[in-house]
Amino acid sequence: MACRQFDQAADAISLPEAIRDRTKYPRRCLAVSLPVRRVDGSVTVFEGYRVQHNLSTGPSKGGIRFHQHVTLGEVAALAMWMSWKTSLVGLPYGGAKGGVIVDPSLLSETELEHLSRRYMQEMVNFVGPHVDVPAPDVGTNEKIMGWMMDTYSNHVGHVEPAVVTGKPIALGGSQGRREATGAGVAYLVKKYLEDMKVPITKATVAIQGFGNVGSETAIALSRYGAKIIAISDVSGGIYNPKGIDITKALTYVRYQKMLHDFDGGEPISNEALLELKCTVLAPAALERVITDVNAPKLKCRLLAEAANGPTTNAADRILEKRGDIELIPDVLCNSGGVVVSYFEWLQNLSNYYWDRDEVMTKLFAILDKAKIAVDAQKKKFQFSRRLAALTLGIQRVADAKQSRGLFP
Ligand code: NAD
Repeated sequence: MACRQFDQAADAISLPEAIRDRTKYPRRCLAVSLPVRRVDGSVTVFEGYRVQHNLSTGPSKGGIRFHQHVTLGEVAALAMWMSWKTSLVGLPYGGAKGGVIVDPSLLSETELEHLSRRYMQEMVNFVGPHVDVPAPDVGTNEKIMGWMMDTYSNHVGHVEPAVVTGKPIALGGSQGRREATGAGVAYLVKKYLEDMKVPITKATVAIQGFGNVGSETAIALSRYGAKIIAISDVSGGIYNPKGIDITKALTYVRYQKMLHDFDGGEPISNEALLELKCTVLAPAALERVITDVNAPKLKCRLLAEAANGPTTNAADRILEKRGDIELIPDVLCNSGGVVVSYFEWLQNLSNYYWDRDEVMTKLFAILDKAKIAVDAQKKKFQFSRRLAALTLGIQRVADAKQSRGLFP
């Protein structure tokens, strides 16, 4: 999917053959075995990956995913998207991603800590504040980033907070990082609804995924006055046309872990949620949930890609042909996370910490600039908004590679 998107964008901007493959393929991939002693005394060997897609424009940047369906191909695709995303929003980074094939909900806290530390131990020579800077993604969180930062710091012999972002505040995490991705999604939704002349206070919203990104998107949009009518996680969804009490849902999930049996509305399946009539649909879980099967049935007006890669290429073509749904493509929509990760890294390197207002003001300024650039590119070349965003991201990476030349 990511490769086909690249080919289409490279054709659209007539990217010279000599630079295409250099821009497209990952620079390095590392696969590791991670033995972990279980609480019953047995040993399980997990498989982990890190892919650094582009290192031409700065250290590479991207999250680490703990999920049972992780594959090297998926990690490489996510790393590629990180390259276009960091480039699009103008950060001095390349793209990377990591992953471990594991269902973290089946591990005890101790096992999870051992796995996280073992993963970082294997990555010590592959990552670093000026090489590659991981962050949280699906199945990982602040606590895991803290363990990884501690493992790296012990190895190098001094505190090195800038090796990962998304850390707890006490370890050099940034104000606003936890909510950054969702706050950015909500901010862009608000801006696009303004363009569409739809008052946000009249907007209804359905969100798939109630983890970091989905829940923070829900909180921020409800603060803007939108009505959240459906939310879901891997255990299923909740639908309430009168609006869901997001604070209550968050408290429920904090204790019960899953939304299952939350009594804030009627149960709804993840598939049905995507096809609800609503103003804004925000997939905020995994890839490829909007397909050629459900794309003709979507009833939203704005599709905000809070997750990475939620729409297949076939579905994209259907939505483009329909022409009645505005799209905020993933590389723009969820870029708030990496922007505030960048702020966290800057604060760590300078040992000077900002307050939340400063973080949010700077975040929204970067998102505004990226939105304006994407919409100008869309208008100038009559591209879809996804193609506009990808071509901008890809062109900047290709230009950097061209300018640096080829090391013999
Ligand atoms: P998370 O692990 O915090 O939450 C994932 C959520 O998706 C959970 O509620 C989980 O139950 C749900 N989910 C998992 N499988 C599902 C399924 N089959 N159907 C429905 N729901 C399912 O992860 P996250 O950090 O919120 O990431 C979500 C998406 O956002 C991913 O695509 C990730 O790459 C992307 N993203 C995350 C960040 C970040 O800062 N965390 C930044 C940019 C993009």
